[in-house]
Amino acid sequence: MLATVDCDSRMSDITAKVVAGGRLTFDDGVYLDEHADLMMLGRLANLVREQKNGRVAYYNTNVHLNPTNVCVYRCTFCAFRSDLKADKAYVFSEPMIRERALEAQAHGATEIHVVGGLHHLKKFDWYVDVVRTLHETCPEIHIKAWTGVEIHWFSHLTKKPYDWVLRQMIDAGLGSLPGGGAEIFDEGVRAQICEHKSDASRWLDIHRTAHSLGLRSNATMLYGHVEQAPHRVDHLCQLRGLQDETGGFQTFIPLAFHPANTGMSHLPGPTGLMDLRMIALARLMLDNFDHIKAYWIMLGEKTAQVALGFGADDIDGTVVHELIYHDAGAKTPEGLTVSQLHSLIREAGCEPVERDTLYRRVLRDGAKWTVGDPMLAS
Ligand code: SF4
Repeated sequence: MLATVDCDSRMSDITAKVVAGGRLTFDDGVYLDEHADLMMLGRLANLVREQKNGRVAYYNTNVHLNPTNVCVYRCTFCAFRSDLKADKAYVFSEPMIRERALEAQAHGATEIHVVGGLHHLKKFDWYVDVVRTLHETCPEIHIKAWTGVEIHWFSHLTKKPYDWVLRQMIDAGLGSLPGGGAEIFDEGVRAQICEHKSDASRWLDIHRTAHSLGLRSNATMLYGHVEQAPHRVDHLCQLRGLQDETGGFQTFIPLAFHPANTGMSHLPGPTGLMDLRMIALARLMLDNFDHIKAYWIMLGEKTAQVALGFGADDIDGTVVHELIYHDAGAKTPEGLTVSQLHSLIREAGCEPVERDTLYRRVLRDGAKWTVGDPMLAS
């Protein structure tokens, strides 16, 4: 335990650095994660949040599609996956995919978010056709699809490099990449929670390649399981390094581990205070990311609402058909209405702004919408 006077002087140094627009070091990050007073940390993160995004809180209108839960991997944190022949196994047919796109259109969605399992028997063309079917059915809707882990799997299936895989997907209608599959970059932790999955350098390389092709992407970190503060801060520093190089990340989303129905169900999972600490820590360490998202599906509406005062400026979407975190015990509803999101955001003292996937303001008339200019952060 650090002496109070040391803590006070360390926090003063960090505060001065942040106020001056300086960059925090790895050691600063570990200090903030392990020792900083949560309310001071939150106030500092909120200062940065207001410099970058004022009091705006973004949300979007989206629909999720998890086209199969069958997966060759067995990540110990995952409650979603299924064995090939298990009762819970499913695969979406083409008519079902088309129906989901039409449902998204009727719902006024600007985005379809697509991630799923790595099916033992499906060839690369099946995954390309998922994107093509969605795009051909509703060309106005942005397709945000496939984590870095899935892109790596497609490269493994086809024996082709990442840029070839991504170009096939872009030709089919892919608009951007979600941020999943990053988990925790540290190899020791990865060996415990997802040992066969593509490693950190591959995940980063896939996002580097995507950015070089003009795709924007998001980034995530799964916290609250077996990892420690240095692993979390290292993860953030690696993301910050790639963002320095490419500028292609839009949003960082800290993902709270949900233990129910996973191979780590004996763990308690993160507390509400840890959730807020991760949001604030991310806002302070990721000085080159415009947005930090409090993903309400995982955090719960109440914590996500409070997180808007701890550095988060985005609360994600209306989200229909969320399966992955509900299989892991998330007690949140599968969707919130726009008026519910507005109430949550306004009560937190923020101005709700609907955005599309690329952070352009959405101008809406019921289920009909157009986009305005990009809302560039400072
Ligand atoms: S997290 Fe993804 S890759 Fe890992 S088992 Fe679950 S579905 Fe498969």
